[in-house]
Amino acid sequence: MKKIIVTGGCGYIGSHTAIELIENDFEVVIFDDLSNSSEKTLERIEKITGVRPIFEKIDLKDERATEFAFDRYKDAFAVIHFAALKAVGDSIEKPLEYYQNNLYSFLNTLMCQHKLGIHKFIFSSSATVYGNPDVLPITEENKTQRPFSPYGNTKKIAEEILDDFTKSNPNFAAISLRYFNPIGAHESGNIGELPNGTPNNLMPYITQTAAGVRKKLMVFGNDYPTKDGTPIRDYIHVVDLAKAHVKALERLLNQDQEQPLEIYNLGTGNGFSVLDVIQSFDRVSNTKLNYEITGRRDGDVPKLYAATNLALEKLGWKAEKGLDEMIDSSWRWEQKYRNNKNDI
Ligand code: NAD
Ligand code: UDP
Repeated sequence: MKKIIVTGGCGYIGSHTAIELIENDFEVVIFDDLSNSSEKTLERIEKITGVRPIFEKIDLKDERATEFAFDRYKDAFAVIHFAALKAVGDSIEKPLEYYQNNLYSFLNTLMCQHKLGIHKFIFSSSATVYGNPDVLPITEENKTQRPFSPYGNTKKIAEEILDDFTKSNPNFAAISLRYFNPIGAHESGNIGELPNGTPNNLMPYITQTAAGVRKKLMVFGNDYPTKDGTPIRDYIHVVDLAKAHVKALERLLNQDQEQPLEIYNLGTGNGFSVLDVIQSFDRVSNTKLNYEITGRRDGDVPKLYAATNLALEKLGWKAEKGLDEMIDSSWRWEQKYRNNKNDI
């Protein structure tokens, strides 16, 4: 059984990916400092898969601790690196914390695995590296722009470091996956997105509002050049996203890579506005969301959605779930969590 180190594996996307990995017969070792997650995730993964992943509580900013942890899993085949801080607004207030956390963790992980001869790496990047593109849908060939936030910039810088590193070490194979807007939850309703504190992202804000945890969703602007004035994004189900990581891993496993660093968009190719998302939520939840239009949020671009052909051609992956299904699963998870906190 191939052992895979999953950094940030207790978080939202990492935990769903751990489930898919286990279900595809990989052995999962999670490195996480639990700064934005909980050890309870391990129980939730076990409840769904019957397997509790190996877990190391470790802060990957700490070089010595990272070396020590990696040393125990020398026989790993690859690393999937999710660990990062991800709140855009927070990163604008605390840029150094974001550069320190996201880049030290990234560098320590790469250096340790390289030293031990673990030559396969998958990186969680983001569509934010495209900035505000002129042409849509956006392909991987589009030039990246300096992202608006320090958070986004950590993704751009990390991709540039990967590019340099793989050029100088052609036997090191890396895949960077640029996520569009992950939402949704596992179909069991036993695991999902659980942000600490006030959510920054649209979907958890909506479900928490409907669950009574927040009073009202503020819609950031309705004067964009879009069909209803609200920004358009490419929402993708987190389970579809998780499956793409397994496909990327298989590409590394089969040595199918054509370049030492390959980059793929992970989206559906469909754009939905904020009001589309609210309407879909009202439809699937049979409720009426309390929302108010307010001013634009700094840094939001009007439209962003992916060209998806490259991932289909090279990874054999395509998103399968539609918007209603994504939103329904987010809502089922939120309700189950609120009603039953201790049992799931
Ligand atoms: P998350 O916060 O739920 O998960 C990240 C995990 O990393 C958490 O469990 C956290 O405790 C851990 N972590 C953070 N810093 C760490 C450190 N120094 N050492 C060890 N563990 C650490 O976030 P997520 O939504 O699952 O995102 C996973 C990855 O995907 C991140 O790199 C994020 O930037 C990227 N991404 C997310 C989105 C999104 O909308 N969720 C979009 C694009 C890219
Ligand atoms: N959004 C909103 N209110 C919120 C959070 C988000 O109107 O409380 C909008 C935001 O302006 C963007 C879309 O929802 O157009 C998706 O935002 P999110 O933060 O989830 O992801 P982003 O695309 O910014 O990474």
